[in-house]
Amino acid sequence: MGDAAETLFERIIAGEIPADVVYQDETTFAFRDINPQARVHVLVVPRKKYRNVGELAEADPQLLSDVLLTARKVAELEGISGNGYRVVFNTGSDAGQTVFHVHAHVLGGEQLGMFGRPQGGVH
Ligand code: 5GP
Repeated sequence: MGDAAETLFERIIAGEIPADVVYQDETTFAFRDINPQARVHVLVVPRKKYRNVGELAEADPQLLSDVLLTARKVAELEGISGNGYRVVFNTGSDAGQTVFHVHAHVLGGEQLGMFGRPQGGVH
């Protein structure tokens, strides 16, 4: 089993767990978030696993660029590139990262809210 898919997203990329795939190419894979936070909410994942965006940037800047270009491609395919969209990389527990295979959230399709602090913020 050594190299068997370990994280959820490796299993999705491997086709072991079904997903609503929006786009894929040689280096990246994009599918709809199961719990969408906007009308359009797509996750873009590099096929090769890094834990977070910083590790990806350090190890393979070309692959980070591929992820961002796929995010733009997804926005075009979803028809949201004109009105705008948000690309988010959560890193670590304070940011709410739950899957430790780096992924860009592509959010749009409506006016997005503020982001940062939960429910009214810290005083
Ligand atoms: P994170 O919280 O790590 O930044 O983002 C993980 C995302 O994966 C969450 O937005 C969550 O809704 C999504 N997610 C978790 N499990 C599944 C799944 O089985 N399928 C899909 N398509 N998305 C998932």
